[in-house]
Amino acid sequence: MPELPEVETVRRTLEQLVAGKKIESVKVTLPRIIQRPDDTEMFAALLAGETVRSVERRGKFLRLMLDHYTLVSHLRMEGRYGVYPSGEPVEAHTHVIFYFTDGTELRYKDVRQFGTMHIFDKDQDLLEKPLVKLGLEPLDENFTLEVFRSKLDKRKTKIKPLLLNQEYIVGLGNIYVDESLYLAGVHPEREANTLSAAEWAKLHEAVVTTLQGAVAVGGSSIKSYVNGQGESGMFQHQLRMYGRKGEACDRCGGAIEKTVVAGRGTHFCPNCQKPKKQRIIRK
Ligand SMILES: [Zn+2]
Repeated sequence: MPELPEVETVRRTLEQLVAGKKIESVKVTLPRIIQRPDDTEMFAALLAGETVRSVERRGKFLRLMLDHYTLVSHLRMEGRYGVYPSGEPVEAHTHVIFYFTDGTELRYKDVRQFGTMHIFDKDQDLLEKPLVKLGLEPLDENFTLEVFRSKLDKRKTKIKPLLLNQEYIVGLGNIYVDESLYLAGVHPEREANTLSAAEWAKLHEAVVTTLQGAVAVGGSSIKSYVNGQGESGMFQHQLRMYGRKGEACDRCGGAIEKTVVAGRGTHFCPNCQKPKKQRIIRK
């Protein structure tokens, strides 16, 4: 599943490809992708005549900013966009086509069919489901150590599921949580309220550097993810934990282990990420 760096990469390329283009008409061949409005003809009617002004992102949701509406799109497992000249043969599993007035087409393809699209009045999407409950944006300048820590450090929950929970922080999935916890030297099963001030600082920095590093190289290509221009990301070559069970840890040379935390496959180094630490007593 694409995480924040992959969605951000899609956002950037999609914006380059479609900003300024005017939608002439829309064809939907798989109605269940369209979550709002619940009528696909209405969906198409609302979009006709609208120009894409920009493409923004909130968590793992893409937001196509139109004249009067915001089109919110979630790629889920394997959704992807591509822009084609009209007349180009339409590939299998293409479920939504946006026809632009300049003769090009934005096509949405989704083999697994889990992706969703919602239309809201402009900016209203931020006040309603599914975006309203989303937590902190980790690449936003307001994502400070203080804000991050104060949101999580009272919780008696394991740190990994807390970081995966989109109501606290958005955009972090299994790959980047494992990488961030490793970089910070924090075991994934530590309860959040046992982390020291120094560990919070390391974890905050780890989350930001991991995500920024991944965005800089276009995200990771795990399975079939490609960005809006059909290119693969490169961050998978920089992963230090994810998918490396049994290989040597870069820091200590010990074997990387894999376990299950909160139902998710989890990679960690048992030397660099100690499972238990004495309870920290704060002043
Ligand atoms: Zn290690």
